[in-house]
Amino acid sequence: MSSERTGLAETRRRFLKTTAVGAVGFAFGQNALGQLPTEGKLGGLTKLSEHLIVYHGPINVGIVRDGQKALLIDCGDGSVADVLSERGITSVDQIIFTHHHRDQACGAYTFAAGGARIGVPAAERDCFDKVAAYWNNPRNRWRLYNNLHPHHLMLAEPVRVDTAFEDGHEMTWGPAKIRVLATPGHTDGSVSYLVEVDGKRTVFCGDTIYDEGQVWDIHSMQKGSQRGKRRISDYHGFLGSRPQLTASLGRIKDTRPDVLVPSHGRIMADPPKAIDTLVARLDVCYDRYVAISALRYYYPELFTEYAGKKDHMPIREGKPPPDCLRHFGTTWMLVSKDKAAFPMDCGSPKVIEWIQGLLDKGEITKVDGFWVTHYHCDHVDAIPEFQKAFDCPCITDRHVAEVITNPMAWRLPCLSPSKARVDRVTKDGESWQWHEFRLTAYFYPGQTLYHAALLVEGQGVRMFFVGDSHTMAGIDDYCAMNRHWLGRGVGFDYCIALIEKLKPSHIFNCHVAPAFTFTPEECRFMRTNLAEREKLFSEIVPWDHANYGMDEPWVRCFPYEQNATAGSKVDLSVVVTNHSAKPRTAVCRAVLPRTFGGKTTNWVSVEIPAKTEGEVRLSFQVPAGVKPGRYVIPIDLRYGKWVLPQFTEAIVVV
Ligand SMILES: [Zn+2]
Ligand SMILES: [Zn+2]
Repeated sequence: MSSERTGLAETRRRFLKTTAVGAVGFAFGQNALGQLPTEGKLGGLTKLSEHLIVYHGPINVGIVRDGQKALLIDCGDGSVADVLSERGITSVDQIIFTHHHRDQACGAYTFAAGGARIGVPAAERDCFDKVAAYWNNPRNRWRLYNNLHPHHLMLAEPVRVDTAFEDGHEMTWGPAKIRVLATPGHTDGSVSYLVEVDGKRTVFCGDTIYDEGQVWDIHSMQKGSQRGKRRISDYHGFLGSRPQLTASLGRIKDTRPDVLVPSHGRIMADPPKAIDTLVARLDVCYDRYVAISALRYYYPELFTEYAGKKDHMPIREGKPPPDCLRHFGTTWMLVSKDKAAFPMDCGSPKVIEWIQGLLDKGEITKVDGFWVTHYHCDHVDAIPEFQKAFDCPCITDRHVAEVITNPMAWRLPCLSPSKARVDRVTKDGESWQWHEFRLTAYFYPGQTLYHAALLVEGQGVRMFFVGDSHTMAGIDDYCAMNRHWLGRGVGFDYCIALIEKLKPSHIFNCHVAPAFTFTPEECRFMRTNLAEREKLFSEIVPWDHANYGMDEPWVRCFPYEQNATAGSKVDLSVVVTNHSAKPRTAVCRAVLPRTFGGKTTNWVSVEIPAKTEGEVRLSFQVPAGVKPGRYVIPIDLRYGKWVLPQFTEAIVVV
């Protein structure tokens, strides 16, 4: 089994020893950035017709010109302003936005202050002018389950809105006729604009499509659905906005545009071909996802059209668990011959009552150890109460421990604010004896990257506790934000290789009562499928590896959230995962809130070897006299050829 994949923190620490992280302030001009994958150079222009120009900044900005006035479609980081003045455009009359993401709109403040009217999709109005309500709502921070879409690339500070556009709205601006088309998919409220000017039909489609057959990212498509009376949460909806996106692409095609201008990506001169290729590829990607999805076991009604498909892995039968186990909620509990108990996970106070009941009845005599499979709230919410009720060591792998002992430092799906105590942090492969059982701890980057597995040998069986990573139907990778990496030796490929090596007689999922196993053929089938997917998903995103499109937190702040007092210094790391097969340079700076003075920190750069994490350290001062509150600190990133304004953020609570 390949073990190139060492632990993240270890890689990080090892890496930090050899690099002067944070020591170099890095200033560069545009030449250092290479070329953006647009038709023009970064900062360049494409003139589509007399009155319609596209500015290629970090995103493409549409410029409709009428004498010295302009209407902009999106404004990106605002760098388009320089080009406008060079071209003799003295005022921006209006900006109309395709969607609310920060990379589309973070430059809006200066234009709005200068008098530009701001038009936004009606469905996303609150994402422009009421952003504090989003950032201050704990529902958008903890136990994220039903509200993962649209993802949180939300403006840090509100911008005034003058007009909110409904689908079908038409307007005339200068020489142009503009029609609003609702095109949900990338976000719930995304719109496109059909601009008719100089006898040409151009659709500005936001991030609905990136280029022929490609999307900017995959994780933004995480979305729930409704099947009859059953509501499927966003959490369970991998590629869930595919039906909306496909319908939106169809609507765009129906307008018969000559040209398609995406926010990110190349201008497309053959819109039907670009769109058809994307729709076909998404269908194949989804089919390959379904073929081994654990979700087929939980929600067969979602996949009726795939049932019995030849190249899909059949769902196997379960088998009864051995007598040494008890199951309640998401907790499996190992009971020794002398009636000692070793529970795993504690998602609810009811688990504590249940264990107390077994003690009262004499079915068990003591609880003398406790294991945590992964950080999700339905597995850890009641750990603090459990630790008050039972005096025993809490044991888990360090990837899990790093999250559950300090949840405020993370932003992940289903994250619990409950802070657990971990008494023993296990190394990958570490074994110990517990009564008649031999226990071995493993790092298990399955359902999440922050996940462990426990092999229990004894009483003639080899039981493998894999948290939520598998059901009899295959692998649990239905929430992209959980960070399942594709590639040999990482993610589920790593996990299934471990199953092949350990050959458990019983596999246990926390939510599933029967035990199961996978045959060697099934293991091979799943690993082949994953290898195939690595290729397919790499094809539909512009990045040089699929994981950039799947793994939203490939750029993340650590700590994500921290407390600070007015007048104090804040230290913060930006952790960047290099998913590429080559070293990459990441350059970051923090964008400070207007009440902090509105400046940026200096750029700091780090060289990141292939397939490892690198870290950039930033620090800034919270001015004295700043009002108490939650402040959003966006991070600008330049990564290889990519210019990514406000690509992630940290939270500072004053
Ligand atoms: Zn976007
Ligand atoms: Zn879980």
